[in-house]
Amino acid sequence: MRIEIVAVGTELLLGQIADTNSKWLGEHLAAIGAASHFHQAVGDNHERIVLAFRTALARSDGIIVCGGLGPTHDDITRDAIAEVMNVSLHRSEPVVEKIRTMFTSRGREMPDSNLRQADVPEGATVIPQTKGTAPGLICPVGHKVIYAVPGVPYEMSDMFDRGIAPDLQRRMAARGDTSGVIASRVIRTWGMSESGLTETLAGHIDGLDAAPGSMPHGTDRSSGAATVAFLASGIEGIKVRVTVRAEDDRAAADLLDAEEAEIRSILNATAGDVVFGIDDEAIEDAVARTLAVDGLTLGLAESLTGGLAASRLVNVPGASRWFRGSVVSYASEVKFSVLGVPEGPVVSEEAARAMADGARRVLASDVGLSITGVAGPDTQDDQPPGAVFVGLARAGHETVSFGFNVPGDRDRVRQYATIAALDLLRRTLGGATQD
Ligand code: ATP
Repeated sequence: MRIEIVAVGTELLLGQIADTNSKWLGEHLAAIGAASHFHQAVGDNHERIVLAFRTALARSDGIIVCGGLGPTHDDITRDAIAEVMNVSLHRSEPVVEKIRTMFTSRGREMPDSNLRQADVPEGATVIPQTKGTAPGLICPVGHKVIYAVPGVPYEMSDMFDRGIAPDLQRRMAARGDTSGVIASRVIRTWGMSESGLTETLAGHIDGLDAAPGSMPHGTDRSSGAATVAFLASGIEGIKVRVTVRAEDDRAAADLLDAEEAEIRSILNATAGDVVFGIDDEAIEDAVARTLAVDGLTLGLAESLTGGLAASRLVNVPGASRWFRGSVVSYASEVKFSVLGVPEGPVVSEEAARAMADGARRVLASDVGLSITGVAGPDTQDDQPPGAVFVGLARAGHETVSFGFNVPGDRDRVRQYATIAALDLLRRTLGGATQD
């Protein structure tokens, strides 16, 4: 069954609040196997809400509308639903009583304006409210349906779980729509462009396209077994999202495991160890995991990043077990006196190596990682803005350094240098980069 989400509220269009309800509903619809091809956001305007509903009903089997069920004059979702259903509203006395009891239990008298929340379109059923004053509505429109829930996120999610999901699953079963669950996994990569990833995986995706079945994602590269989509996430790398449809959670997890293994192996063979994490795993989580393999501790020496790398690493719960600290050696004299960097240019591979050795010694860590470079806007040591050098020192290994150039303004250079350094550490310890 195809369900369209319509978020009502002028504040959504003005950018005053983010539409987190649609995001939440999208995830939870997928989890019960309901497809969602379109989302709409519409302001508090009767004609436009009606138009949004008619548009949605023309291309989907049902609508979930959130917002506009409150007691004020701009809460007009109920009236718009009644118009689309071509019925009138009637006041539900049980709902009036429920709202009145809520006010009384809080020691307050119910304002007359709240009576509007007890208005129900003829033929609709109510999803009883437990947290707020507005009830939800299940409104049949021919053989389609409009579900209405309040905009307040915790009221919306509660009503979805209690009222909408069970009703939707009943309808899907009655239609023979036993499409199971839709599940996704995000494979996070760093160091490859979106076009590079697309090209590398093109053969695999073409193979998927030829597989039988159908996936409900028109714009993605879709297939019978899986859909693969590429999502650029700024300096945090490119994500490869795999979506599958399966009978149940277990079968979906098996399909995702197989697909992840295949994509990892193609990328490994052609581009190296570019996958650093899955779903919400960040680069610092990957570093923590890599260090844990040999129980290593880490010390940093940061110059242009000014503590950004340390700040990311301490995001990881339990970081004190392996993270010793960071010497923010911003001034050249600190590099010389604290870290023992030889006097001379401090934006260089030599300085990066000496900083990494110094970090290991001063912080008594197994591994020392350093970051030096030019954040800009001025040049330094004849190096242009964006020049970055990373040093890596380990017991039993020669200290190594890497140099690269980063595009962008000061902030981007610092952020990018941080992630690049942490990724180099991950790859080197993981054995992918030869020293
Ligand atoms: P109530 O009955 O509680 O008044 P309502 O159905 O009238 O709820 P709105 O007045 O549209 O809902 O929204 C109430 C609040 O819920 C908004 O101020 C906003 O904070 C939040 N909200 C509304 N829509 C969304 C949305 N799509 N995503 C996230 N938050 C939202």
